[in-house]
Amino acid sequence: MLIDIPTMFLVNIALCLTLAISIGWVAANEGHDGLRPLIFALTLQALAYVLYALRGRIPDFLSIFVANMAVTGSYALVALALAQFQHRRLSLLLLWLPMLVFALGLGAFFPNIVIRIAISSVVYGVQDLILLWLLLDGAKRTVGRGQHLLMAGVTLNLLTMVYRAWMALTDEHLVAHITDPGTSQTLVYLSAFVSLTLVAIGFVLMAKEAADEKTRLMAMTDKLTGCWNRFRIEETAQYEMLRLQRYATPVSLILIDIDHFKDVNDTYGHAVGDLILQEVAATAQVCIRNTDVLGRWGGEEFVVLLPASGFSAAADSAERIRRAIETSVYGEGHKVTASFGFASYRSTDSWDEWLQRADQALYQAKAQGRNRVVAELPLLPASASSPQGTELLRLVWREVYALGHTTIDAQHRQLFDAANTLIDAMVSGATKDTIAAKIDAFVALSAQHMQDEEVILARSDFPGCAAHAARHQQLLARAQLLRARYARDQLDTTELLHFVVFEFTAQHLLIEDRKFAAYLGGH
Ligand code: GH3
Ligand code: MG
Ligand code: MG
Repeated sequence: MLIDIPTMFLVNIALCLTLAISIGWVAANEGHDGLRPLIFALTLQALAYVLYALRGRIPDFLSIFVANMAVTGSYALVALALAQFQHRRLSLLLLWLPMLVFALGLGAFFPNIVIRIAISSVVYGVQDLILLWLLLDGAKRTVGRGQHLLMAGVTLNLLTMVYRAWMALTDEHLVAHITDPGTSQTLVYLSAFVSLTLVAIGFVLMAKEAADEKTRLMAMTDKLTGCWNRFRIEETAQYEMLRLQRYATPVSLILIDIDHFKDVNDTYGHAVGDLILQEVAATAQVCIRNTDVLGRWGGEEFVVLLPASGFSAAADSAERIRRAIETSVYGEGHKVTASFGFASYRSTDSWDEWLQRADQALYQAKAQGRNRVVAELPLLPASASSPQGTELLRLVWREVYALGHTTIDAQHRQLFDAANTLIDAMVSGATKDTIAAKIDAFVALSAQHMQDEEVILARSDFPGCAAHAARHQQLLARAQLLRARYARDQLDTTELLHFVVFEFTAQHLLIEDRKFAAYLGGH
């Protein structure tokens, strides 16, 4: 099917002008997203088609030379538009060299239509390659799919130019006049119509998507400190909560409240207060990992969300931030401190409950004298501590657990009892001192048992004596570390339970110890 070429020119003129005027009308004032050069590019295209359409009726210089320069200039302007959009500097050489080469080439081979078409196709193709390079290079930093339309438009044009150059060099029946009908002419101008539309619409959509993203980020960022605001933190927290529920990835939350900040404002003025808020946010920002997020909760309160972080990671982070704030000097020689409360998320919590637990810990930190980190220690709910409530969690000794050695089995049973006493204390919400005493009793009994067991093993033929003793040392070291963290309010009871029930009892007493049962003989 052949399309009347002058009609095609008219259609493309109408298209370019409609696009240029529409974009100009809506986005005339947008200075930095590259729309202005795009409007000029479309206008130049329209001009080129007008000059083509007048071929024969105006001097060839206008209809050929100026028209071709308008086209190559419009490609350069699209490149400029892209560079503006991407906030990058484009070397002037890259921008205008193709145009210069083209001008010289056209001047030299003006009367030869075949060489003219070949040169113009090659130059336009090179300009398409520059555009593609810009697009691909900026793709990662560009949001949305508008850029894909642009890429499609430029690629289509590139292919058309390859086809046009090839036709010029191989087809001896090439058109003698630009408006003569022919398959290749029809294809070239039809493809120009499609790629112009794709480039213009793609660019506008890309700019719109970028503007939307900017607005979205601005709505989610705290103006004063530049950190996230509470809406964004909440949104991310909801996502992390789902992750925990689905994949058991832990997540923790730290609340930070600057101490006596009202006094800072009252003494030094609000402007100094603002500056200190900014600098405290910066201090906290450098203390956290880049996967953690810092938000301003409001006033002089901040929040840190720590994805993939359990209790101890959150404790460490909070302490690191606390120390950094305490040792920093803000504004012109001012010192401030802050109080911290943190809580790890539990799968049954709502966002409000989780937040409230961290807030309670923060309240404790204030009550205990400020400038400190306090953890919210999740205990099992009070309803679990009925008179028989301790039955809820209990290690039950069974005869099959016996290894056949009187002393070791007796001690293992004692350890079951000591573990149960400790679990009882935790489950029933005993005071911190009581629980600490039970931990100490459990650790002391374990240490004694390990020592006795090692003496017994040394007398047997068990080949894994040394490894077993090393494992004992590891377990003891871990027990002592947990004990120390408990004293600093940095131990989640679930972590302690996990150690006592799983690591120590199930893994060690019931599995690892079984390895030497065969070497003990009956004692
Ligand atoms: P506490 O140790 O109990 O936290 O005492 P505080 O004075 O820090 O706590 P309070 O909540 O009573 O006061 C918070 C103060 O924070 C009140 C307000 O003057 C100040 N503040 C809140 N937002 C801003 C802000 O954007 N800029 C400045 N400069 N100050 C703020
Ligand atoms: Mg406050
Ligand atoms: Mg405060």
